[in-house]
Amino acid sequence: MFDEVNGSGGGRGADHGRALWSGDYYNEGVVNDHDFFFDKLREECGVFGVFGHPEAAHLAYYGLHALQHRGQESAGICVSDGREFHYHRDMGLVKEIFNTEIMSGLQGAMGIAHVRYSTSGESKIVNAQPLVFKYREGDLAIATNGNLVNAVELRKRLERQGSIFQTSSDTEVVAHLIARSQHDDIVDAVREALQQVDGAYAFLFMTRDKLIAANDPHGLRPFVLGKLGDAYVFASETCAFDAIGAQHVRDIEPGELLVLELGKPELRSERFAAEKRRAVCAMEYIYFARPDSDIDSVNIHSARKRMGRQLAIEAFIDADVVTGVPDSSISAAIGYAEQTGIPYELGLIKNRYMGRTFIQPSQALREQGVKMKLSAVRKVVEGKRVVMIDDSIVRGTTSLRIVNLLREAGAKEVHVRISSPPFMNPCFYGIDTPDRKELIAAQKSVEEIRQAINADSLHFLSHEGLLAAIGRGDGQEFNRGMCTACFDNRYPTELYGHRSLVSEDVEIISDKSPKLELRTEQSAFVKA
Ligand code: SF4
Repeated sequence: MFDEVNGSGGGRGADHGRALWSGDYYNEGVVNDHDFFFDKLREECGVFGVFGHPEAAHLAYYGLHALQHRGQESAGICVSDGREFHYHRDMGLVKEIFNTEIMSGLQGAMGIAHVRYSTSGESKIVNAQPLVFKYREGDLAIATNGNLVNAVELRKRLERQGSIFQTSSDTEVVAHLIARSQHDDIVDAVREALQQVDGAYAFLFMTRDKLIAANDPHGLRPFVLGKLGDAYVFASETCAFDAIGAQHVRDIEPGELLVLELGKPELRSERFAAEKRRAVCAMEYIYFARPDSDIDSVNIHSARKRMGRQLAIEAFIDADVVTGVPDSSISAAIGYAEQTGIPYELGLIKNRYMGRTFIQPSQALREQGVKMKLSAVRKVVEGKRVVMIDDSIVRGTTSLRIVNLLREAGAKEVHVRISSPPFMNPCFYGIDTPDRKELIAAQKSVEEIRQAINADSLHFLSHEGLLAAIGRGDGQEFNRGMCTACFDNRYPTELYGHRSLVSEDVEIISDKSPKLELRTEQSAFVKA
């Protein structure tokens, strides 16, 4: 069992629990400015790993920079020099956490790193990853992206057996499972632990001399393997490889365990779980992943453009300009414009230099905040019929504010087109979503939503149109290897204690044989 949790593991521990942000407003996870003004979904985390490079920490630093969009509450890097760990974690952005002095202390040829938002687990320094543990076989560091759906059940069982938890993170549950294993070998212990958990995860484990990567049996979260010279690198997205000049080798397979050990240059691959139905998160393609990343050889920008083109086929409207809500909807807006021949224009501009605003929530300040973060370009939209493309509608409050921004700038008509189906069901796989009752599409018809957001017309991309636009190569398999539970209420895993949070017509498709038919409407599809 652990001697300590979050200790230095015998190495030079750089985590002093120090918070960079002023006051509890940010650190306690009350709200941050992005979510305060924009009711967008939040990705939970990004992971990065390096094995066999003398500058492991520096590579991790640049890798985390590229993954910053996946989590902005905390970041951390833990490296091993073969004898001991050196690590540093803190609250805030990567560029604010690490400086020359801190980086000079992170010496080692292998390392794992993490950026985080919190979904399960509170937003506190104690939950910042990589989590570092000291257990009977030595030091263990863990970084993960995703969410375990049976974490609560496992935690209760472990507590009954005497485990004491010091964080509210799922990751600690896995650490306890490893610590309780009868296996002395870390790979055997990790395999045994993973066979008890269920959900979405891309795990990186590190001991003094081993680095282990594991992807969940459905492959819900993106997880890729790359090489930089003789060094191996791991990341949540390929954009992190581009940032360090590494080559993308392949996506890590669902249910695959990869092991690297100091002194043994070969990469060992094994399967720790039987292959299950592939279920890559569709929202990664729609919204979360960076446009320059590829998931399973599908480029995100290209997929979003196809979503926009498909949306134009399904919901054409005669208009003067097409604009996208920056940044994630610009690719789809370009696709819509290409398909219709209506010019694409920068009708909305994001202010990138505003920084964080530490203001108290009130309706008036929310309205002001949207105007500070986003501007409508009057010369582009004034007197025009505008098609506004957005990637999703969550509560509807943001859409209303943006439509109003365009109207205040003189737009004659505002037609909203959404490059995904209505978001109606909560996610339990590492995406922070509100309760069903707060999801506007779960409560209102499309016409009622149109009225609520003050649009002249509103259309969502069809389910089948989305799958066709992403164009993954999983043949005729049900949902073509995608998780689309937030749109169709069909979840790829058991939901355990979360079952009461979904509507009664929920379907668990994990163990069913692949289906060929889809229950959505047919339409003309854009070629992938
Ligand atoms: S439920 Fe939605 S957001 Fe969650 S993993 Fe599935 S597709 Fe992604």
